[in-house]
Amino acid sequence: MRVLLVEDDPMIGEAIQEALKDVSYATDWVKNGQTALNTLACQNYDIILLDLGLPGKDGLEVLNVIRARDNPVPLLIITARDGLDDRIRGLDGGADDYIRKPFEMAELLARMRAVLRRKGGIASPHFTNGIVSLDPATREATVNADAPIQLSNREFALLQALLIRPGAILSRSELEDRIYGWGEEVDSNAIDFLIHALRKKLGGEVIKNVRGVGWMVSKTM
Ligand code: CA
Repeated sequence: MRVLLVEDDPMIGEAIQEALKDVSYATDWVKNGQTALNTLACQNYDIILLDLGLPGKDGLEVLNVIRARDNPVPLLIITARDGLDDRIRGLDGGADDYIRKPFEMAELLARMRAVLRRKGGIASPHFTNGIVSLDPATREATVNADAPIQLSNREFALLQALLIRPGAILSRSELEDRIYGWGEEVDSNAIDFLIHALRKKLGGEVIKNVRGVGWMVSKTM
């Protein structure tokens, strides 16, 4: 899961970045609207967290440009403003939800999960392909309805990347892209280690290797 965080306040930005890192969301943090738009032109994200009060282009302008480009990326507005008008303009402008500062990180994470679920058209809070299911709230995986197995942050991030689209093959670099943010050191066999660890926990059949291409989970539903 890759997140674009657009926030000019260093303390709030750092707190959010830490919280997202704790749940292994690859996070790229930018501090103004123009940089956000430049970044979006060359990198895909699973979700955007957008502060409204930004220097230069404000958040609502950034939102308008994103939606005018027909980019449907899930987007959650973060705002300190009390103004009801801004929140309404944000939602009408194509934001999927908003959260008001100050907020608890647990609530931000829950709202992000809810937005992702709604945008993905998924009613259930779990990701599943009918064989393995993943609970993003606890980071536990269940295979064939056996006892839940606790995954590490990165094991979770990798399995989630595959379970978002069962049947799709993700290459090594596509998986790295979902797990590591800017400036995070990526070991050349990090993905192999994670796949190995996941197979040890979940059994060898859950994640399939497509030789020379990448990895996938079966599409069974
Ligand atoms: Ca701000």
